[in-house]
Amino acid sequence: ARTKIGLLFGGCSGEHEVSINSAKAIASALAQGDNLYHYEVIPVYIAKNGIWYAGDIAHNILKTKQPLEVETNQSRWQFPPLVSEIEVWFPILHGPNGEDGTVQGLLQLMQVPYVGSGVLGSAMGIDKIAMKTAFAEAGLPQVKYMAVTRPQIWSNPCVFPKLCDEIEATLDYPCFVKPANLGSSVGIAKVRNRQELETALDNAASYDRRIIVEAGVVAREVECAVLGNDDPKASVVGEISFNSDFYDYETKYTEGLAQLHIPAQIPDAIAAKIQAMSLQAFAAVDAAGLARVDFFYIEATGEVLINEINTLPGFTATSMYPQMWAATNVPFPELVNRLIQFAIERH
Ligand code: ATP
Ligand code: MG
Ligand code: MG
Ligand code: MG
Repeated sequence: ARTKIGLLFGGCSGEHEVSINSAKAIASALAQGDNLYHYEVIPVYIAKNGIWYAGDIAHNILKTKQPLEVETNQSRWQFPPLVSEIEVWFPILHGPNGEDGTVQGLLQLMQVPYVGSGVLGSAMGIDKIAMKTAFAEAGLPQVKYMAVTRPQIWSNPCVFPKLCDEIEATLDYPCFVKPANLGSSVGIAKVRNRQELETALDNAASYDRRIIVEAGVVAREVECAVLGNDDPKASVVGEISFNSDFYDYETKYTEGLAQLHIPAQIPDAIAAKIQAMSLQAFAAVDAAGLARVDFFYIEATGEVLINEINTLPGFTATSMYPQMWAATNVPFPELVNRLIQFAIERH
């Protein structure tokens, strides 16, 4: 009998559409590898209001790539009956309510294997403040940063100017303001003066109660993919280039705005350093299964700074994670197969 894989996608997150695309790519990879692997894909879709759908509705969303239109107030959560048949879960949810440990906790309680990191790894890996604390502890070099919370921005009008003063005293412009628990550059701003700083903090606070402000660096952007559990492997290093001010949402998802270079044209010693740092980062947050680690490479000094880890990275056919593995002799269908096998191994 074929193993029933619950492909869990969509989700209550600003990255809902990205997740649909990732799920579609994984479903077609499993269909492609059908004669090899004997999996049956059961799509399970989480609508933007949090309701779960299986069956025709979920199949249809994969086909059309159109999110289900839902009323946000009709959010009575329930399991579709099919859920009890699933033998391995493949959550391919990006951002909050999916990449952050919440879904992982639910799957853990269901006592069914699931692809990717557990509760701690997911939670550490999504929160840029927690992540950076773990990286610092592991001795990984990174940019200077300050952690901020929503109450410092919103609650007390006397606190806010002092907070901005403190940020200006700690970091130089330009700096980056980011909601701590998002991805795809949602809510991120590069700010060059006090007014932009204030606007960006206010905006970031609308996404998250935890916010991070980082010193801006001028650097090449390189990434590395990690695969495995207790003895994880790092892929070749890839680079992203673009003409925009930074790698923002539009640049990420508009065709032609970003170029991927795999493998990155960097010295071998730098690539080896990036791979070693990726494995250290993976261990530092207790990740499992997969992760994509993002870096800044300052060519002039040879310095490599870790930017972040993503425990459920973009997984479309053209995404960096599967492409870096394809360039490391792990084609997309085989990559999906290994992830499922690592989930079973870890259970
Ligand atoms: P992802 O989609 O990779 O999960 P994310 O939303 O978690 O993205 P980051 O990777 O932290 O966000 O930042 C997005 C982009 O913003 C980076 O790829 C880079 O272009 C720019 N950026 C972020 N932080 C800095 C920084 N400190 N200095 C310079 N550029 C930065
Ligand atoms: Mg990220
Ligand atoms: Mg992300
Ligand atoms: Mg990133």
